[in-house]
Amino acid sequence: MTERIGSVGGVAAVLADAASIGVVGHVGPDGDALGSMVALSLAAREAGIEAVASFDEPFIVPEEMSFLDTSTLVSPADFPDALDVAVVVDTSVPARVGALAGKLDAADQLVVIDHHISDGEWGDHLLIDRTAAAAAELVYEVVVELGWEITPAVATALYTGIVTDTGRFQYSSTSPRTHHIAAHLLERGVHPDVIGQKLFEEASFGYYSVASRVLDRAVLDTDHNFIWSVTTNDDLDHAGISAHETDGLIDLVRMARGTEVACLLKVKGSGVVKGSLRSRGSVDVASIAAAFGGGGHHNAAGFTSDKEPQAIISEITEMLP
Ligand code: AMP
Ligand code: MN
Ligand code: MN
Repeated sequence: MTERIGSVGGVAAVLADAASIGVVGHVGPDGDALGSMVALSLAAREAGIEAVASFDEPFIVPEEMSFLDTSTLVSPADFPDALDVAVVVDTSVPARVGALAGKLDAADQLVVIDHHISDGEWGDHLLIDRTAAAAAELVYEVVVELGWEITPAVATALYTGIVTDTGRFQYSSTSPRTHHIAAHLLERGVHPDVIGQKLFEEASFGYYSVASRVLDRAVLDTDHNFIWSVTTNDDLDHAGISAHETDGLIDLVRMARGTEVACLLKVKGSGVVKGSLRSRGSVDVASIAAAFGGGGHHNAAGFTSDKEPQAIISEITEMLP
């Protein structure tokens, strides 16, 4: 697979001609999905284009990202049925945008801006670069190409995407380009200290109890250098916290020295399991996630499954070296 599919110029040309734009990120948006959709829609609106952004239910902006300017966000029900150009960010598969996929397909033209490895192609105009550390890097390039203004709010949203998807400029995806972009965003008014506190240095007190249960349950498989744990809705109810607050838990689970792969299984009320996989580099967890119909990156991937947690763990273990 080539590193980049499509071009910044190609996507920019489509957006430049649009009278109305609707941007959608994947369900349960992380900093990159939300930052990218907020940034692109705000910049377009500033440029005089009718622009909104949305993501499928549950339509909740995570508390730690409440500093973002959400003035272009509309609920999925209010997302327009007819648009000149729809843009998907931070995913390139219809299943990841949930019920909004239909409205995206109904737009005159569909643009996909993403940095994931995925099978198949969706959309009329693509900008997919798996070397980009975040979809927000690609959105930045498009906005610069268009000459749209990077206001402090746009810069803050782009920085949020980059700082979260790079694990604070630490993952192997972090490139000189990542730092150049971040430097420009700081010049445009980003306050990294304020954003960093909100994103990485705050949790509700209830999170402590969930984290403690998850760490207590962790199983270390020294034969496969594999560590895994599980959390349930009961943990969340006991702690009084919502599901998205557990997004960072996998980073605690994967700490154990000597492990190469970590997995956290989140069992939902319906019995559906959301799996998060992380690798230190020697194992491609995107291909493991793909075996369950999910996807992601070499070192960070995810999936949903209706199998039993123990069966999922057995299957993963069989795929490990
Ligand atoms: P997570 O473990 O949810 O933080 O996800 C890690 C990476 O895998 C992110 O890049 C996600 O976009 C991707 N990912 C998570 N869940 C899925 C899924 N069900 N299908 C495809 N990609 C996913
Ligand atoms: Mn994402
Ligand atoms: Mn991303």
